[in-house]
Amino acid sequence: MLVSSKELFKVARKNNFAIPSPDFVDQNSIKAYIEVAEKLNLPVILAYAEAHKNFLSFDEALYLGKYYGEKTKIPAVLHLDHGTTKELIIRAINEGFKSIMIDASMDSFEDNVKKTREIVEYAHLKGVVVEAEIGHVGNGEDHRSNDNSESIYTTVEEAKKFVELTNVDSLAVSIGTAHGVYKGKPVIDFDRLKEIRNAVNTPLVLHGGSSSGDDNLGRCATEGISKINIYTDLVIAAFNKSQSTKSKDYYELRDAQMEGMKECLEHYYGVFQTKKFK
Ligand SMILES: [Zn+2]
Repeated sequence: MLVSSKELFKVARKNNFAIPSPDFVDQNSIKAYIEVAEKLNLPVILAYAEAHKNFLSFDEALYLGKYYGEKTKIPAVLHLDHGTTKELIIRAINEGFKSIMIDASMDSFEDNVKKTREIVEYAHLKGVVVEAEIGHVGNGEDHRSNDNSESIYTTVEEAKKFVELTNVDSLAVSIGTAHGVYKGKPVIDFDRLKEIRNAVNTPLVLHGGSSSGDDNLGRCATEGISKINIYTDLVIAAFNKSQSTKSKDYYELRDAQMEGMKECLEHYYGVFQTKKFK
C-alpha cells in the first residue's frame, strides 16, 4: 500500500535503523525493489528523481509508482527525489506522490528557507511530506550529472535554524558522502551526525549512499540517519550481473539485471538494519 513516510520515520528514528530509498528508472527497477521489500516484509521508499526524466517521464513514474505502490502489501512511499522545478513539485503533490524533496541546497541559506517553506505550506495542506537539503551533497568522481559542485558540510546551527524556519519533515544532511561513484572511500563525519541528530527532532536523510562502504552506512543507519538513498550501486549490480551471464537472450539478460538489483538492495536492507513495522 502507498503510505506517508511520517510514521515510518518515527519508528526508524526511535529504533535506530534506516529505510532504503532506491531510485527507480523503469518498470523493471520498481518491480525489483518491491519484490525485495515483499520478500523481506519491510517498507520501501520508491524514489523518482527529476534528473532521470530522460529515462522515465514524470507521467510514467507516477503511473508505475501508483500502480505498483498500491498493489503491494508492504508499506511503500512514492517519493520525488531532488525536485528542483516548482511546477513539477506541485504536480507531484497534487497527483499522488506521498513525499517530495525540494532541493534548493545550492541556493543561499535564506533562499533555501524561503523556497522550502513555501513548498512545505502547500504540501502539508495536501497531506504530503517534504524533505529538503541543507549543506550540499556534491558528486563523486565518475558521475553522470551536470552538477560538478563540491560538497558543503551541514552545520549544526544551520540545521537547527532551517528546521525551525521551514517546518520540514525530514532533512538531508551533508556529512561526507557524495552522489555517484567515489574515487576513494568517503570520510564520514560521525561527530557532526551525532551533533545534528541531538540538535533536531526531524528525521535525517543521507544522500549518496552508494559505494560509501558498508561499515560507514551501517553506522549512519544506527547513529541517526533514518533514510538512505541508493542508486548507483543498484545499476552497477544490474549491469555486472547481466555481464556475467553468457546468454544473448533478451529476457534472460533482463532477468539477470533485475536479479543483480535485487541482490544489491537486499544486501543494503541488512546493512541499514531495517526492521519490520508493527
Ligand atoms: Zn541525492
